[in-house]
Amino acid sequence: MAEVNVIKVSKQYGESRALDDVSIRFAEGGLYGLLGPSGSGKTTLLRMIAGFVFPDSGQIRIDDQPVERLPVERREIGMVFQNYALFPNMNVADNVAFGLSVRHVDKSEIKRRVGEVLDLVQLGSLHARRINQLSGGQRQRVALARAIVTRPRVLLLDEPLSALDKSLRVDMQVELRRIQRDVAITTVFVTHDQEEALTLSDRVGILRDGRLIQEGTARELYDQPASEFAATFLGDANILNGRLETGGMRINDGSLVRFGSRYAISNQTKCAIRPEKIALRRATGEAAPSTHNWLTAQVAHHVFGGVNTTYMLDWCGQRLKVHVQNSGDDLIPVGSQVTLSWSPDSTILIH
Ligand code: ADP
Ligand code: MG
Repeated sequence: MAEVNVIKVSKQYGESRALDDVSIRFAEGGLYGLLGPSGSGKTTLLRMIAGFVFPDSGQIRIDDQPVERLPVERREIGMVFQNYALFPNMNVADNVAFGLSVRHVDKSEIKRRVGEVLDLVQLGSLHARRINQLSGGQRQRVALARAIVTRPRVLLLDEPLSALDKSLRVDMQVELRRIQRDVAITTVFVTHDQEEALTLSDRVGILRDGRLIQEGTARELYDQPASEFAATFLGDANILNGRLETGGMRINDGSLVRFGSRYAISNQTKCAIRPEKIALRRATGEAAPSTHNWLTAQVAHHVFGGVNTTYMLDWCGQRLKVHVQNSGDDLIPVGSQVTLSWSPDSTILIH
């Protein structure tokens, strides 16, 4: 177990800036998700912590020791790559034992530790199977077992579940969480799947164009994204342009949107409202409750989705989206005038 501290690292590949002044701290024993679109620098950051890539500038510290010039084998890091990189003709136990054999660990000790981690990933009964006789989910477990058998100080996982189909992926997310809790190794995993980042991580960092744009708990990032990119990359959001005034933000239809008291006002120019935070009803001409923000719009179309119905609404030349929980009521017909209302606490001020 160890704390990893990434301090102002940058990395340039020709014209492309893979990492741009990134600082992030991974606390001891935590499970961290790195999220971002393709090409945002996720793999580069992981490979830099592992020692496959050296930073142009900045520092990487593990337990306060600078490691950015240490070779891979001296950093005590376990890594699982996207394609697992297992030896297809070797059996499960030999694959897992590999890292211990090259370190000349005693044969009986190897046997004991391999048995232990195979039990941990629930593959004990398959120890003699060849890799090419395993399913995708089983291979993923072998790769994980191989990475943790050497008892690394840090575990790095690069899109570990992306090769699995949806239902298996969800099962493996639960498994990964359990195993990580059991071994309590500081773990950083990369994903481009927002749901995976939210369900799996203690904390999440969002990368964009090589920059860390926000970091926090999953809840913080969802409830208080700081930018339009964060708000729309992690979840869905309605973005309203506006201008700050005393008492709220003046939006396009001339009304004043109020927000909760937690905000430090700076130069925010937009607000975001999550589609599930908005209440929708047919416009009756009566005033909406004065404690809420509200605006009127017209139903453009709706999509029945089982648990929720999604309404797309026309408002001031833009589309808004509202999720309404399915309570068995009739849908509001296309073309109807509707009132949207939400609590000031659900207004997110963003840049
Ligand atoms: P991600 O994992 O988020 O998809 P990467 O870290 O792989 O992103 O890549 C970040 C940027 O750096 C991309 O623009 C990519 O093309 C570039 N890059 C990464 N590795 C190399 C390399 N070895 N040589 C040249 N460019 C690279
Ligand atoms: Mg990558």
